Amino acid sequence: MMRQVPFLDLVTPHVELEAELTAAFRDCLRSGHFVGGEAVEQFEQEFARFCGVRYCVGVANGTDAVRFALMAGGVAAGDAVITVPNTFIATTEAISQAGALPLFVDVEEATGNLDPARLGQFLELECRFDAAAHTLLHRGSARRIAAIVPVHLYGQMADMDPILALAEEYGLPVIEDACQAHGAEYRSAREGGWRKAGSMGLAAGFSFYPGKNLGACGEAGAVTTNEERLAAHLRKLRDHGQGRKYYHDIEGYNGRLDALQAAILQVKLKRLEDWNRQRGAAAENYARLLAGSELLLPQAPSGSKPVYHLYVVRVPQRDAVRAELAGAGVGTGIHYPIPLHLQKAYAALGHSAGDFPVSEQLAGEILSLPMYPQLSYDDQKYVVGKLAEAVAGHRLPAAELPAASL
Ligand SMILES: *Cc1c(COP(=O)(O)O)cnc(C)c1O
Repeated sequence: MMRQVPFLDLVTPHVELEAELTAAFRDCLRSGHFVGGEAVEQFEQEFARFCGVRYCVGVANGTDAVRFALMAGGVAAGDAVITVPNTFIATTEAISQAGALPLFVDVEEATGNLDPARLGQFLELECRFDAAAHTLLHRGSARRIAAIVPVHLYGQMADMDPILALAEEYGLPVIEDACQAHGAEYRSAREGGWRKAGSMGLAAGFSFYPGKNLGACGEAGAVTTNEERLAAHLRKLRDHGQGRKYYHDIEGYNGRLDALQAAILQVKLKRLEDWNRQRGAAAENYARLLAGSELLLPQAPSGSKPVYHLYVVRVPQRDAVRAELAGAGVGTGIHYPIPLHLQKAYAALGHSAGDFPVSEQLAGEILSLPMYPQLSYDDQKYVVGKLAEAVAGHRLPAAELPAASL
């Protein structure tokens, strides 16, 4: 039988933890606490500690986490928020659902994360200070810029020091989209040491969607912050605006974390560091097995410890190579095939091809290889072997190669 290497394995980790997870469910049934309660509070404390922050507020999913973080951070209807075009649409959905307009700044080619140099140009050239209103306005839309959302894509933190320096210079809050980066670290010269994802901005959104590095057995998310007032506001936003039952200070949302998911996340959080280490080892294996190939491999700058939510290589003739791998039993993904500014959902923003060339180029070449903690070395060798065959088979004759790639 042909070997099968799935893109993601969500079964094995749960088989290993089945007794503990079943016990968590039984506790939940027997206590009758299904939403909120002790398990949620305990998980919040444990995840806050894991991220190196004071507060964690559990919510229903990562999209709500980013949306609530933006709202608590002061984003209001009619504002604009800066982010990147190469991310999952949840980032910009959260911005739109907070009432704001997403504005895009292109990414660094090496990491796929928000490019601080381009961010600086955008703030300088496409925005202006309105002295009377004490706000930074986007020239094109005349909207107030209310926040910057760097996305820590594929498990690697964005270059936060220069982003935070610009944010400070322009008086903008930074809300991290840490939905792919549970446990990722960044060496901050500004803050004098290593910092975890979710601990550097005013607040950060995490997703515990099952396929994330820390995943629930269903939907879940959380916001992290060091600001007590922000945490208090987040607790109201997620729970119909109430601080006390049926006393509604504001109109909020039904955005709470289930007790069952919190109990499951408590069990799995204990394994996260090991799992991240195993992902790191698998990434090293890939790098060694792929060394000398013509593929561009993930780059980790020296002040960065990624947690390899995804292992993304750049492949010429990507779609043909991907199809061939599928034929050989190797599952892969594309994160993401169409940058957000070119998505139909955002046609009204009026962008066209060429507006964000780095994101567009990456979208055409990126291929996410199988990556999960339990991925075996034998399976990795199989993947790399099939990948090398597929790339060789689809190599263009030299005459057809663009001059730059010769
Ligand atoms: C998964 C993800 C989200 C959204 O999380 P959900 O829990 O699916 O709502 C947001 N941003 C990024 C970058 C993600 O990968």
